[in-house]
Amino acid sequence: MRIVHVATEFAPLAKVGGLGDVVHGLAKEQAALGHQVEVILPKYDIIKYHNLENFSLEMGDLWSFEDSSRYHNAVWTGYVDKVKVHLIEPHHNHYYFNRGKIYGTADDVERFLYFCRAAGEFLHLQRGRPDIIHLHDWPTAPLAPIIKHIYKDLGFSYGSIVLTIHNIEHQGKCSPANLSRIGLRGEDFRSEERLQDPKDPSVINLLKGGIVYSDSFTTVSPTYAKEIMTPSSGFGLDGIVRLFESNFKGILNGIELDSWNPASDPFISFPYPTNSTFIETIIKNKEANKESLFKKLNMTPSKGPLIACISRLAKQKGPKLILHAIQYALKQNGSFILLGSSIDPEFEKEFGELQQLYKGNPHFHMKLSFDEAFSHSLFAAADAIFIPSLFEPCGLTQMIGMRYGTIPIARKTGGLSDTVFDADNSKIPLVNRNGFTFDNPDTTSVERVLKRAMSCYETDKKKWKQLIQTDLNTDFSWKKSALAYDQIYAQALSKTSDFKVA
Ligand code: ADP
Repeated sequence: MRIVHVATEFAPLAKVGGLGDVVHGLAKEQAALGHQVEVILPKYDIIKYHNLENFSLEMGDLWSFEDSSRYHNAVWTGYVDKVKVHLIEPHHNHYYFNRGKIYGTADDVERFLYFCRAAGEFLHLQRGRPDIIHLHDWPTAPLAPIIKHIYKDLGFSYGSIVLTIHNIEHQGKCSPANLSRIGLRGEDFRSEERLQDPKDPSVINLLKGGIVYSDSFTTVSPTYAKEIMTPSSGFGLDGIVRLFESNFKGILNGIELDSWNPASDPFISFPYPTNSTFIETIIKNKEANKESLFKKLNMTPSKGPLIACISRLAKQKGPKLILHAIQYALKQNGSFILLGSSIDPEFEKEFGELQQLYKGNPHFHMKLSFDEAFSHSLFAAADAIFIPSLFEPCGLTQMIGMRYGTIPIARKTGGLSDTVFDADNSKIPLVNRNGFTFDNPDTTSVERVLKRAMSCYETDKKKWKQLIQTDLNTDFSWKKSALAYDQIYAQALSKTSDFKVA
């Protein structure tokens, strides 16, 4: 099958969070399964070119459209892990992708709508028919109506369109005029059966457009799939998800085992195997990584465990609970390292104050930036990883943590519910218990769960060791998920075309 992902992130070229990891991991596994896999991305100024092989100009002259004007684009190409990447570079006076960051500019909607139209034009001009065009989240969801209302009529031939919702909170709400700028008459699309927002009838909802116009759509865990069909978690789109439920499935993400491998991780000082029979070496080297990180950060060891939190500091991730956990863990003789990025302005002051409060505390370190290298060394050094999300579509840090023998302490929601099983819950078979969980997103529950985890680390080494072994034995590879996507693709193709699956 020829599969083309159209996305706004792709690790290791351009990543803000899990989306980048997921598009990379899935595409790489699909290539390993024998598919021809391509990814179309904006050519951001922040692309990490050293990760791209055979980088070259692919198409010097791609003309696209915005506001009745024609704009010139160049398309560059290269390979990451046998996946062919196409980078669209607009020659546009608004320098859409030269902003030093991927998201968070006032014109995000315009930038990504422009990208979708240019990607549609590129797909139409390219030789070869894609079997699957796979879209990811609101920024590329509009390509579904663009293809079905513009390029199909121009003779563009393809198999099916699939959309994956990585986070339903972000929907790309905009005015009908935004849509008109790229050639879909906005007012015609502001109707209930098309792109009209279910909550605010005056606006266009781009993610809804992806759901309505794709042939199948998915989200990133089975529990989150159920959650977003309810009013409390659907952010207004639960009714639309329910309406198209027969085309919808939750498929748990995997993690990319070569990038996340403590045995060969270039960012860690003391590599260690992932085979749990070598548990003593694993524990010894994890301890050595901890010592080395402590030395680097001017920290001293504590009696209790080193707890890490590696997260965007958005409301979704429970910043207030993170702040509380830091104070509680330090009071209980633990250590805490926070690596936080994209800090929500609402919480800037509180994290700043906490940094001041614990300035010079030898058991605490906080870094407020995105730092891939530091994240790897922290996964390897920490004893536990704390994930108190208010909601979590899938979550990757619990799985990466487990791959590094770092015990997850997580709130039971979305994909965290599908992957973390409490060490003290007698209803769960012993062999599946792999971390510590809590239900309610409040400070009392945070204290209770930390108390249980910290006491297990300090007083029951045997149980802690067993948890590490269970975590290391869990298969989080992309294989199972990629095969599940194959099934989704086959179903979508059987619905939409004369394509016969072999
Ligand atoms: P989300 O996609 O909602 O941010 P996920 O848990 O799905 O959350 O994925 C987060 C990914 O981003 C993981 O690979 C994690 O290691 C990485 N990450 C999060 N914050 C940082 C940070 N501050 N520095 C480096 N990597 C980070």
